[in-house]
Amino acid sequence: ALSGEPVLTVEHLTVQFGALKALDDVSFQVPAASIMGLIGPNGAGKSTFVDAISGFLPKHGGRVLLGGRDLAGLSPTRRARRGLRRTFQQDRVPPLLTVGGYVRFVARRRLSRADIDEALAFFGCPPARARLSSVDVGTRRLVEVAANVLAQPRLLILDEPAAGLSHEEHLALAARLRELPARYGVALVIIEHDLDLVRSVCPMLTVLNFGQVLATGPQDEVLANPDVVRAYMGE
Ligand code: ADP
Ligand code: MG
Repeated sequence: ALSGEPVLTVEHLTVQFGALKALDDVSFQVPAASIMGLIGPNGAGKSTFVDAISGFLPKHGGRVLLGGRDLAGLSPTRRARRGLRRTFQQDRVPPLLTVGGYVRFVARRRLSRADIDEALAFFGCPPARARLSSVDVGTRRLVEVAANVLAQPRLLILDEPAAGLSHEEHLALAARLRELPARYGVALVIIEHDLDLVRSVCPMLTVLNFGQVLATGPQDEVLANPDVVRAYMGE
């Protein structure tokens, strides 16, 4: 499964909001079943990147390929069907459903009770019959990740998955994320403002700054890059 073709190829991606280039000629690749951290200061363009890749900002420049196929013109729903899924920075889990009902709604596949129960247990989520209204924000985030993984995407993009989590929840989430490529065959792009989670979870990093790629590659090389150090020190 790790042979050759990257799961995601981003070529010269550019997004303009009026006079502001929120993304400026961004190019990098994500190998299949790998974990790439996408980091950068506030306003660097991370959420804009997720929106463009997942089809919420169709009027971008450049190309986005999933498994070698150009995604141009495809809606977010069609991209999800092709195996590209995302979570949102804000909590969007509807409180009226049960955990199991939400998982089935998000995954949109026929799932056995056993598969759902196994994934919920793996992620440390409440049981399928629990009401989401009785679940705290941190746990809802775990449920959201579990539901998206059960959809069996090739690529799952997580926008600040640790936001709003306690330190313990943060560590628990990190431990689960590390196992996902081997366990479910999914590649992850993890967007984080904070460096702690990406340090412990992401072997590969891409750093955005003012909409441009400052560095991309193995974590140790990227974090030692003088341009990256300078951007994080805020000069
Ligand atoms: P990050 O997620 O890295 O904090 P964003 O992608 O949210 O950064 O924002 C990148 C830049 O684009 C910021 O300067 C932000 O103010 C601007 N921006 C984001 N969305 C819009 C929009 N819909 N309209 C205008 N400017 C936007
Ligand atoms: Mg953001």
